[in-house]
Amino acid sequence: MNKAKRAAIIAGNWKMNMTPSAAKEAVAKTAELVKDADCGVVLCVPFVDIAVAAEAAKGTNVKIGAQNVHFKESGAYTGECSAAMLLEVGAEYVIIGHSERRQYFGETDETVNLRTKAALAAGLKVILCLGEVLEERQAGITAEIVSMQTKLDLAGISAEDLKNVIIAYEPVWAIGTGLTATPEQAEEVCAIIRSVVAGLYGQAAADAMTIQYGGSMNDGNAKELLSKENVDGGLIGGASLVPEKFAVIVSAAR
Ligand code: PEP
Repeated sequence: MNKAKRAAIIAGNWKMNMTPSAAKEAVAKTAELVKDADCGVVLCVPFVDIAVAAEAAKGTNVKIGAQNVHFKESGAYTGECSAAMLLEVGAEYVIIGHSERRQYFGETDETVNLRTKAALAAGLKVILCLGEVLEERQAGITAEIVSMQTKLDLAGISAEDLKNVIIAYEPVWAIGTGLTATPEQAEEVCAIIRSVVAGLYGQAAADAMTIQYGGSMNDGNAKELLSKENVDGGLIGGASLVPEKFAVIVSAAR
């Protein structure tokens, strides 16, 4: 099975939670609980927490990520951070295109693509989020939507750079709602995304790509979701704020 050859990665998305002092404690606690993990472990934290989180994660198997990055290197972009800034304070990963950024902050596939290119050029690993909204699922166009997003978001990205991209399939209706896609729904869409990647980059690249599921994954449902052939890990929001729950999800990713 190709699944065994791919890196399984469980990433937490803390969203706008945790002050730096709380982050220091939560990273240390999480790192202790996941020290025997069989998979990659990433915590994507608010910008102001990155330095302290990276310090707390030193010498552990936890990597630190940001939740967004701008596509310019510097300039008059109030409120934004560049990839070089994130790297310098200790981020190795960055989430791009999260549905909350798309919904509330006007993120489009075009800006997602620009941000992804800038992050990869600077040496960050990207967790690229995409997924359908409820109306699209109900209209039966999930496959079309995720295929289009995959193509637009990856436009112009080389096969070499693709090695540093993880795709997180996150049905918008399942994020922070307590509604989870069934393991079969998650598998179906992750497989569709992989087939689109195969069409763009070839089967070997698609077989090697880590594709996560995200959307109300928790300590109770992770095992079944993660057992699916095309689900290589998870992007975890709410449950990543509780180290004990997050650690159960990490241990389910074997
Ligand atoms: C997320 O923020 O990417 C996410 C999946 O959130 P939750 O797990 O809370 O649904």
